[in-house]
Amino acid sequence: MEAKEVIELVKDLEKGKNDDSHVLKILQTLDKEVVATEKLLRETKVGVEVNKFKKSSNVEISKLVRKMINSWKDAINRSKKIKLQQAQANNTNGSGGSGSGAHNSGSTVDSNVSGGSGASDVSPDGNVSGSSDTRKQMKYVSTVPRNAKNDGVDTNIYNHKLRDMVIKAFYDALAKGSEHPPKSILATCKSIEEEMNKAYDCDSNEKSYKERYRVIYSNIISKNHQDLKHKINNGDITAVFLANCDTKELAPEHLKQKMEEITRQNLFNAQGATIERSVTDRFTCGKCKEKKVSYYQLQTRSADEPLTTFCTCEACGNRWKFS
Ligand SMILES: [Zn+2]
Repeated sequence: MEAKEVIELVKDLEKGKNDDSHVLKILQTLDKEVVATEKLLRETKVGVEVNKFKKSSNVEISKLVRKMINSWKDAINRSKKIKLQQAQANNTNGSGGSGSGAHNSGSTVDSNVSGGSGASDVSPDGNVSGSSDTRKQMKYVSTVPRNAKNDGVDTNIYNHKLRDMVIKAFYDALAKGSEHPPKSILATCKSIEEEMNKAYDCDSNEKSYKERYRVIYSNIISKNHQDLKHKINNGDITAVFLANCDTKELAPEHLKQKMEEITRQNLFNAQGATIERSVTDRFTCGKCKEKKVSYYQLQTRSADEPLTTFCTCEACGNRWKFS
């Protein structure tokens, strides 16, 4: 049964909650049709609603509810166990947050099926390990020195001698010693060239276009500027910036300042975001064990890294973070 249908039935159940035969009919339908998954229970809150009838004075209803809740819990616990085994097999990166730890103990099942608002969420650990796996798969390892030719990348994008030459030169420079996949490097090169061409049209303004190319290229290959390449590949330094910045700004010292400024900006944004903190019961405070935790998420590193989640316990003020 689709989540949408379940939600409709849940609404129906709530509306006719004083009519025992109505309640029983809906419960029986749900019992027959619902395949319990954590996602479905979370989305529909069906577990929470059904559980409200556990203490019904109608024995037929209360008995059915107990049976349903138990079988849903079983189903979710089974899939949790499988997930956990997979996670252990993958040797998940330990996330320090006390919230996530408590979360893994299976408390989600209870909060989803029987307790509280049921607004619990999938384990953040699950998400994090998932994305780091993806990153591992994305790592590009080459046995030969990397460049467009060895990577099998076609840099003839525009059938324009100069523009394609620039893309190829950027590619060779950025791919050398990198573990980024060819597709991602080519995309980066294309967008740098595109921004360059927007700023200095290569046909009408060839001299400036070439000049900009030389500045960017020489900085990328510069030995005392090792991490520039990394930052460009990671997307920490954008194509727009490379194409339009004051060329002085590409010098290592200036760039360092620029990066510090970006970091400050990020922190500033984070403080702004605290206004939009949301309170959730998906995390448990490690200190007082309350489930009144507000959190916000932030990209503290590069865009392909997982988000960092900053938690504050609304009950005791305990703070922690994890990613
Ligand atoms: Zn607390």
